[in-house]
Amino acid sequence: MLSYDYIKCADLNLAFQELEEGEQVYPLAGGTDLIVGMRGGKFAAKTLIDIKDVPELNVLKEDDQGITIGAAITLNEVTGFTPVRENVPILAEGCHSVGSYSIRNRATIAGNICNASPAADTAAPLYALDAVINIAGSGGNRSIPIKEFFIGPGKTALNKGELVQSVLIRKPYPKGKGIYLKASRTGSVDLATVGVAVQRWGDQVKIAIGAVAATPVRAFSVEKAVNEAGEKRWADAARLVHEDISPITDLRGSREYRYHMVEVLVRRGLEQTMGV
Ligand SMILES: Cc1cc2nc3c(=O)[nH]c(=O)nc-3n(C[C@H](O)[C@H](O)[C@H](O)COP(=O)(O)OP(=O)(O)OC[C@H]3O[C@@H](n4cnc5c(N)ncnc54)[C@H](O)[C@@H]3O)c2cc1C
Repeated sequence: MLSYDYIKCADLNLAFQELEEGEQVYPLAGGTDLIVGMRGGKFAAKTLIDIKDVPELNVLKEDDQGITIGAAITLNEVTGFTPVRENVPILAEGCHSVGSYSIRNRATIAGNICNASPAADTAAPLYALDAVINIAGSGGNRSIPIKEFFIGPGKTALNKGELVQSVLIRKPYPKGKGIYLKASRTGSVDLATVGVAVQRWGDQVKIAIGAVAATPVRAFSVEKAVNEAGEKRWADAARLVHEDISPITDLRGSREYRYHMVEVLVRRGLEQTMGV
């Protein structure tokens, strides 16, 4: 039986205080990673700070800056938000590929990235969109690019006393199609064996991949071939992805299978976004 203190927090400053002063204090968003992890012994939480009712974290808006997704906003809310669907549908695809409808009714983007799994389904789309992570803490606020947020498996750039306030997709939005392709063992509820986000930006492309390294990674070798050398033979470009990844073998797939599938999905992504 799990034993922990539970604090329902409607005040951001109270959350900062608890996070800074307490030991083994965890923000609780949807709980779909945290509670499962506590039951499995991954997190030894003594206190959970329920942040779902904090007003500053319940923001979902589009303004001059772009689209801001607060840390308490669920994946289903993101998927249903018209500015996301119209301008950055690749993010809606990433959110939609997480778990099941009922999981997505609780789970958040902030929880997905703060869990810092290299296989997090929203991460690759966020990398391909150059998303910004807005971090808040008692010492002040700061914003960092998503690529600096992931440090390693289970490790983020958050300092003690800080939490993610929101994710920002900046304007100008990408011009062109984006697609998130996920390979998993089952057709339905499963983590990605590999996840590939391919986002066209005019005549350029940004590609990000999950579950093939300690953090999600950009496929810079492929991007360079397409964006700088003008490579249009997508199969040749996709082969270069091997230089960008260092997959491991685990219960979801072998290293060799991951190399193969990433190449296949990058090629398909290029065909579907940049044209056959
Ligand atoms: C059945 C099932 C299927 C799943 N399938 C998938 C899948 O297909 N793809 C996938 O990517 N994931 C999957 N997951 C994992 C999980 O649902 C997602 O990672 C989800 O987005 C986590 O969000 P959450 O709001 O529930 O996070 P929580 O569980 O509340 O939190 C996760 C971690 O982030 C921390 N945290 C939460 N919010 C903040 C914040 N604002 N600031 C700082 N730290 C914070 C928590 O303390 C905790 O350490 C699955 C989980 C289950 C149970």
